[in-house]
Amino acid sequence: MPEVAPYAVSPRNTRGRARREKPPVGRSEFQRDRDRIIHSTAFRRLEYKTQVFVNHEGDLFRTRLTHSLEVAQIARSVARNLRLNEDLVEAVSLAHDLGHTPFGHAGQEALHDCMKSHGGFEHNLQSLRVVDSLEQRYAAFDGLNLCFETREGILKHCAVKNARLLGDVGERFIKRLRPSLEAQLANLADEIAYNNHDVDDGLRSGLLTLEQLARVGIFARHMKEVQREHPKIDARRLVHETVRRMIGTLVTDLTSQSAKNIKARALRSLDDVRAAPSLIAFSTAIRREQQELKRFLRVNLYQHHQVARMTNKARRVVRDLFQAFFNDPQLMPPQYHAPAAANTARTVADYIAGMTDRYAIREFRRLFAVDEI
Ligand code: MG
Repeated sequence: MPEVAPYAVSPRNTRGRARREKPPVGRSEFQRDRDRIIHSTAFRRLEYKTQVFVNHEGDLFRTRLTHSLEVAQIARSVARNLRLNEDLVEAVSLAHDLGHTPFGHAGQEALHDCMKSHGGFEHNLQSLRVVDSLEQRYAAFDGLNLCFETREGILKHCAVKNARLLGDVGERFIKRLRPSLEAQLANLADEIAYNNHDVDDGLRSGLLTLEQLARVGIFARHMKEVQREHPKIDARRLVHETVRRMIGTLVTDLTSQSAKNIKARALRSLDDVRAAPSLIAFSTAIRREQQELKRFLRVNLYQHHQVARMTNKARRVVRDLFQAFFNDPQLMPPQYHAPAAANTARTVADYIAGMTDRYAIREFRRLFAVDEI
């Protein structure tokens, strides 16, 4: 990895791992974190989890796995240009969705409802729980024993009430400090990735039309540019080319605005970063356009009646599974029985959150369809 800036996270200023380990050979501490994430069970399951569309709806839509790869790609490009720690942004990007339930936002809301009187369910906290304890594959410890900065990046948001229970990674929410620039970057790379792929998947599914999108500022101006340069272009290529250029614009803007912000603060260390406001940011004009696009997607895609019908089904699956397992924990596989005896609701939430879309549907059938075993 090229030499990073003094305000980037590096092996020199890392707060290290909760459990001490021998330094890695032939790779950095953050490469080791990334490798552990890629080899985890939760990471493999991302292939069969979705954000907006349910996994069986088609092979061309993004899954959480391809989404996480897109986030890592975007975050790494920006990190390199800002001389930030590329290995760390990659690790955070690949891990950021590990705690997501099946069925995207619908699943998360349903599980949170079920957990209301048991401390709630929040996917960021769950991602941290996955890497801190739920992955059980190492002889010496539970979880992946990741570096502090990787864990900090995974915990994007957190209520102060929960932060108090989290120790080191909770501190910044209580003291109102910022996370590393790498964590800030992974967060915005996530936003660039999902806004753009939701446009693309929305069009491919037929839930959105080009006519609708032609009324959204950032899409319209890139589409017109493509049409001007390639008047005979077909619709499919027009969409790809427009989305490609939008991502390019957002990445370039994020890089240049963040570089300006960093320069203006004359940052010298990681402590300077923590005390400053968020410095990884879009320019005002681009931020406005992004907000317009988000609003458009919320109204026209996330609240589309066809999505709502599926969301409704997803909610029912999660709710019914939760009730059944909560009332009788013996219905869960044996490895959940002991933890369920200590905390039934949390164990059921862990089990359900770990499910892929198709596994949840299969479990639902196995539990409730009388002709299934
Ligand atoms: Mg994401």
